Amino acid sequence: MEVRIAALADRCVKCGLCLPHCPTYRLAATEAESPRGRIAFAQALAEGKLERTPSILAHLDNCLACMACERVCPSKVQYGELIATTRAWLADTGAQTRPARVLGWLLAKPRLLGMMLRMANLPGLRQALQGRVIRALLRPFGMDRMLAELPRLPRVQVAPSRIPAAPRGRIGLFLGCVAASVDRDVHAAATSLLHALGIEVVLPRGQGCCGALALHNGDAVQANSLGSALRAAFEGAGVETVLVSASGCFGTLRDHVFADSKLRVREVHEFLSADSGFDTLKFRALPERIAVHAPCTQRNVARADGAIARLLARIPQLQIDALPAPPGCCGAAGDYFLRHPETADALRAQTLDATLAQSPQTLLTSNVGCRVFLGNGLRECGAEIPVTHPLVLLARQLEN
Ligand code: SF4
Ligand code: SF4
Repeated sequence: MEVRIAALADRCVKCGLCLPHCPTYRLAATEAESPRGRIAFAQALAEGKLERTPSILAHLDNCLACMACERVCPSKVQYGELIATTRAWLADTGAQTRPARVLGWLLAKPRLLGMMLRMANLPGLRQALQGRVIRALLRPFGMDRMLAELPRLPRVQVAPSRIPAAPRGRIGLFLGCVAASVDRDVHAAATSLLHALGIEVVLPRGQGCCGALALHNGDAVQANSLGSALRAAFEGAGVETVLVSASGCFGTLRDHVFADSKLRVREVHEFLSADSGFDTLKFRALPERIAVHAPCTQRNVARADGAIARLLARIPQLQIDALPAPPGCCGAAGDYFLRHPETADALRAQTLDATLAQSPQTLLTSNVGCRVFLGNGLRECGAEIPVTHPLVLLARQLEN
């Protein structure tokens, strides 16, 4: 791994063009919290030129893996692979502990996770769990933050759609782990839109987590085990395409889980906007102002933010305001908001300020983690702005 890390880092010409795009550099304004600084640390550690001090390990751990640096790098430094390999190497050699073991275990069991989320959202229980006493009791185990940011489960407001009688295509829909419960409305919306296009939707049994969290935290063994189970579930489902509605999972599915598979991974907005039938669908007018938050993974990995804008433009009278490009990451970033609450809250505050300044009637975002984190943040501010997924809005307005 050391050779690979050094080779990846060697591509960096230290131009610094990525620095203004890095959320942690913008907050801390120090080289050590920048992509260039982290690349230099990783290279020096891999080449044995630097001691593994707690401070250097912390700078590497503070990276959100938002990939803003990779997107703008003129030298095409593969930063995502570099940080994941460095973290895996440091964890394998005992220099860095792998975080989120409990959460990682739970994510591998979406049904159990869903059951726990349903119970935690029972009337009265949610307030009790988020009360001061229980949170104080669970603080020593690091679970108070998890309770404070407990996801809410959506009421599925999309009418069930009819399966096309003579389908013109068949796709497999990826449900995910947290998203299997928290994005149930998104999956219903995606199914409605696809059915309206005459496309049959298959939900392969036994599908689970894509392993993104494990991969980002340097746990290649767990990431590979989750990826193999997921690949087997889809390969046995008789589909050629895997559609993904959570942008945070898309890169892991495309570049790791299905990298060597015949199955094609497509981002759902890109898929819908490329379908010639989409222009024939009719949408009810919606005279509302909405703001669109583009998650880092949507902009820097899936690169499908343009497709979302094209789809939403089909809703008559909808006034769409994109949130300003900076501040970039909203701070959710997988389990980052649990492990780095101060940085995550500072980044969330920037996104919330930008949202409140536009005072939209709804905030749209296409990643489940951002949806939960921003929704909780808006509620804490006392702002009654619902946060939902672009597909849910499209399916609600669909006339066909
Ligand atoms: S990562 Fe790319 S953009 Fe950033 S300093 Fe290195 S070469 Fe320049
Ligand atoms: S992935 Fe994001 S947080 Fe990490 S160094 Fe790159 S821009 Fe900064």
